[in-house]
Amino acid sequence: MAAFDDPAFDNHEKVVFCHDAASGLKAIIAIHSTVLGPAAGGCRLWSYSSDDEALNDALRLSRGMSYKNAIAGLKFGGGKAVIIKTPDFTGTDALYERFGEFVEELNGSYVTAEDVGMSVSIMEMIARKTSFVSGLPMKDGQAGGDPSPKTSFGIFKGIEAAVQFQLGNDSIKDLRVAVQGVGHVGYYLCKYLSEAGAKLVVADIDTKRVKRVCEEFGASPAPLNSILFQDVDILAPCALGAILTSETIPLLKASIVAGGANNQLATDADGQRLSDAGVLYAPDYVINGGGIINVASEYYGSESDAQVLESVAEIGKRLTKIFEAAKASGDPTNVIADNLAQKIIADAAA
Ligand code: NAD
Repeated sequence: MAAFDDPAFDNHEKVVFCHDAASGLKAIIAIHSTVLGPAAGGCRLWSYSSDDEALNDALRLSRGMSYKNAIAGLKFGGGKAVIIKTPDFTGTDALYERFGEFVEELNGSYVTAEDVGMSVSIMEMIARKTSFVSGLPMKDGQAGGDPSPKTSFGIFKGIEAAVQFQLGNDSIKDLRVAVQGVGHVGYYLCKYLSEAGAKLVVADIDTKRVKRVCEEFGASPAPLNSILFQDVDILAPCALGAILTSETIPLLKASIVAGGANNQLATDADGQRLSDAGVLYAPDYVINGGGIINVASEYYGSESDAQVLESVAEIGKRLTKIFEAAKASGDPTNVIADNLAQKIIADAAA
């Protein structure tokens, strides 16, 4: 990959390739910006088809964290890590501890936490070697623990705001929602949605996870290859990114796309495509900021768990402002959000 000229590189401050032959660790830590504070963003464990794909994922996720943290008003810059799940990968304590040592060597310029494939217990292994880690078990009502329930709560508030704006409904009762990916974020989102009376259709490559949400929340299963195109009011992507493309957008039946997955748009132009198709898109890094709000409160020790929920609920109002600005200007919502985030970072750097 031609690093500096690649569009995904986008002025990253630092990219670190971490390798440890003894444990088999192969990881990339991408630090996009430390203008607003330490570069914070979760660590993803995933099997990639190539190292370039892993690097591209780390870079795109890391830039997204800069924007997410800026819009959420956090004292965090943006960064992200990926641990490459090689064919002979074994997730040993030694591997995660070695990763912790690499994080420690960055002296606090990067703060890690959970993302896809991670868990609180893995964060505890990493924390044996570094204090620059969050998403550790919650203590005494203080913010902490697995951030995904807070992420899902923020997405739920964002869906409410989108429904109000696009459909004029005060409630999501009886609305149909398709959820792609029912892992940590998708599971808790289904819980909030079913409690509010929504009708759920779900898909996941892990059939046990599908069974669980069908049993617990009365969801219906859908095939993996058609979950995006279900006849629903809302599509909530909660798996991986780049699912909104020139091929998939014309086939969507939902008039709202609002979910937790990072980097849902394959390219920035896909935001315009959604807008042209009359689909209201809740920018992913705005709607899924609940987890990092929780992480920031844990890291800085600033808020109780109850206060974090109040902060996360603000995501709905934040999105409504973006929807209104998009309507007034004619620009798609992703452009409005990008401009807002870039301005916050540029003002802080000035
Ligand atoms: P997770 O690993 O717990 O769940 C992801 C689920 O998606 C898994 O069950 C997996 O089997 C499924 N999946 C993967 N590819 C799929 C496909 N093509 N079709 C259907 N299902 C598929 O991860 P998570 O923590 O729930 O994160 C989900 C998304 O939300 C990711 O994009 C992540 O970056 C983003 N996110 C997570 C958090 C958080 O707090 N965990 C915060 C912000 C954003």
